[in-house]
Amino acid sequence: MTEIPLQQHIAPSGEQMTVRDLASCPPPDRWNDWVEYDAKAWPRKVEKHYTIIPTICFNCEAACGLMAYVDKETGRVKKFEGNPYHPGSRGRNCAKGPATINQVDDPERILYPLKRAGKRGEGKWERTTWDEVLETFASKIRAAIVEGRRDQVMYHVGRPGHDGYMERVLGAWGVDGHNSHTNVCSSSARFGYQIWCGADRPSPDHANARFILLISSHLETGHYFNPQAQRIIEGKMKGAKLAVMDPRLSNTASMADYWLPTWPGSEAAVLLAMARIILVEKLHNREYMRRWVNWQEYLAAEYSNEPQTFDRFIELLIEQYAEYTPAFAAKESGLTEESIIDIARQVGHAGTAFAAHTWRAAAAGNLGGWQVSRALWFLSVLTGSIGTPGGTAPNTWNKFVPAPFIKPSPSEMWNELLFPLEYPLSNYEMSFLLPYFLREGRGKLAAYFTRVYNPVWTNPDGTAWIEMLTNEQQVELHAALTPVWSETAWYADYVLPMGVGSERHDLMSQETHASRWIGFRQPVLRVYKERNGEPVEYTYQANPGEVWEEDEFWIELSWRIDPDGSLGIRKYFESPYRPCQKLTIEEYYRWIFENSVPGLPEAAAKENLSPLEYMRKYGSFEIPQDKVPVFTLNERELKPAELEGAQADEQTGKITRNGTPIGVMIDGKAYEGFPTFSRKLEFYSATMKEWGWPEYAIPSYIRSHVHRANIDHERSEYLLLPTFRLPTLVHTRSGNAKWLYEISNANPVWMHPTDAERIGVRTGDLVRITTEIGYFVNRAWITDGIRPGIVGCSHHLGRWRLSTSQGTDRWASALVELSKANEGTWRMRQLTCMSIPARHTRSTRNGWQ
Ligand code: SF4
Repeated sequence: MTEIPLQQHIAPSGEQMTVRDLASCPPPDRWNDWVEYDAKAWPRKVEKHYTIIPTICFNCEAACGLMAYVDKETGRVKKFEGNPYHPGSRGRNCAKGPATINQVDDPERILYPLKRAGKRGEGKWERTTWDEVLETFASKIRAAIVEGRRDQVMYHVGRPGHDGYMERVLGAWGVDGHNSHTNVCSSSARFGYQIWCGADRPSPDHANARFILLISSHLETGHYFNPQAQRIIEGKMKGAKLAVMDPRLSNTASMADYWLPTWPGSEAAVLLAMARIILVEKLHNREYMRRWVNWQEYLAAEYSNEPQTFDRFIELLIEQYAEYTPAFAAKESGLTEESIIDIARQVGHAGTAFAAHTWRAAAAGNLGGWQVSRALWFLSVLTGSIGTPGGTAPNTWNKFVPAPFIKPSPSEMWNELLFPLEYPLSNYEMSFLLPYFLREGRGKLAAYFTRVYNPVWTNPDGTAWIEMLTNEQQVELHAALTPVWSETAWYADYVLPMGVGSERHDLMSQETHASRWIGFRQPVLRVYKERNGEPVEYTYQANPGEVWEEDEFWIELSWRIDPDGSLGIRKYFESPYRPCQKLTIEEYYRWIFENSVPGLPEAAAKENLSPLEYMRKYGSFEIPQDKVPVFTLNERELKPAELEGAQADEQTGKITRNGTPIGVMIDGKAYEGFPTFSRKLEFYSATMKEWGWPEYAIPSYIRSHVHRANIDHERSEYLLLPTFRLPTLVHTRSGNAKWLYEISNANPVWMHPTDAERIGVRTGDLVRITTEIGYFVNRAWITDGIRPGIVGCSHHLGRWRLSTSQGTDRWASALVELSKANEGTWRMRQLTCMSIPARHTRSTRNGWQ
């Protein structure tokens, strides 16, 4: 490595500055007074003094570290850079991290709590106080609780950004009211993982892999993509091969050794064909499968007349998947047989260093997509690469959620607005059906919170959400908790401004790599004031305007719902240090850092800091692996004390206590195993069979509604691929980030040259895409980077607002006119252009055109 020559300067303060200082990360001992030259003053060398305070990015779920540079002269945040002490992101960010400064400085941001002054959706607002907001909601929620209407309180979240805080609040209220967006997102992929191993996400150790197979674009977008992208490239630099299954030549696929442009929905067929090749060619990890797959259960249930031996199990597996030949998979997917065979062999030879990942991608947007992640995990099982160095762990092995000081017991009520009984295996809440359930009279909402959630724009049936939100019988009181205006907030009773990544507390941990860490998001201006001896009672006193943070809001609200403690709620919001006194947010995190994070108190003591001071200083902490290991956790042997009163099943080895599985006996030893019913990896899912889907008891391939046979090219039918992200935008939360819209301001329709030629379209031409629920018009981009027969359009851009001066940020949205033409039909017309192309006039029955 070439050493950067030092060009030394002496600052007036007497401190030595160097050009290298300006080009590298400031060392922590200088974070209290970091000096840089003012770029705007160039060529004069004018010093600027900063206090650097770490926080966590809130622009996607990866929870990368940021360092906020607070200008000591103005007391304002000047910029954000990466935090090199953050174990996940290691000082690196994507474009969205530094763009947090745009969100802080957004001239159109909501600075004060607003209350509607006209009808819902009329766009008339008046400023109100936090006190009035708290009183209004506390009395509404208290009445619902006291009157036994707990199912009328609902919190609907788009982006959590914390680990467990809100579940604790709702649990304390005794409310089963946590709703999510997950069923329009990752539920399907999660389900495929869940029924295998009891954890619903994968955590690949890319950096140590020999072969990486991605069914996602994790070098550029998606959850945890920046931390994972770093490790994918590290793995590649150490010799790993990368294959990417994606009908689109994403930036990720462009970096791959193998691009596998499968027909969407056919991926499970390809993966099962690979599984069969691995089995037939005996590349599987025989010993691992013998020990850790629930083959005994499978044979007993499905082949009771066959020898109950592992070898017979393997023979039956090959018979079971006989139809999944390379030729069959090639026909379904459009890949070549040779490439399927080649990748299968490389996966098999990678053995325990085979890393694989899918999130939404192929598992979303097509019926039966959940079998894609299930079939992918099958390859990890066959290679014995579950939770090994270079393999793929269940996410829970690489995530650390520290326990708070007092936790409510699980709710005893069942909210059928979230988990209706006719969907017994729904994985996460059936959130997208909420407007229809309310319309059918299945219930109503007394108090509804949407939090960083924008279904009016995000969900394809946004007008159904407008109808729900404007119906005061269905939704009595609605607050939108949001850092930015959204189409949904427009229809709320209250719009409550919440902080962006540098204006709030949160604790986050993500499965970015083979490690466990926590990241501490903090309101940097509050920390700055406190460092300067200015005490702050509530975060909104330090943030711009009266922008608050949810953590404190929920403490205050809970205290007001149960002021005397008679409802049993208040005790969860009392200080663990000052009996019967109201919990402060500092005390909440202080207790966690002092008591629930292994290794943190010791690390802090080495620097003469308290655990809280340590986290305030560095913003993150990596749990030492000698305290909490991360590999092959299923192999942990149970201690004699853990086995007291337990019994083991002779045939399957399952160890239970009082009917609850706690481990598994394998070759005479008691292991912890996986958090499944069998405590093994469940190739065979008794649950699927017992609940009425015996045909899906093992990994299989479901022909999707977007199967090739269902698309008639002669009638100009194409498959529309809308499930990919742009690397620089964040669903509906980057409308207030100017830099990001300067980078990504067009969202063309991707089309292959052969398709374009057939219908006579050139790049830049307008094309009309008609779907089952409407149409949109957009410009075409003719590119070899997409499979023939498929057109792609990302799900970003196309934002709208109903007022010239208020609503979704003007540089990100078009002014539109929205009206209900007749029952079930809405019409939207664009009135003025914006700086970016928008989707054109749209109307449909319960949808957009
Ligand atoms: S990957 Fe996500 S968390 Fe990391 S910098 Fe980008 S937007 Fe922020």
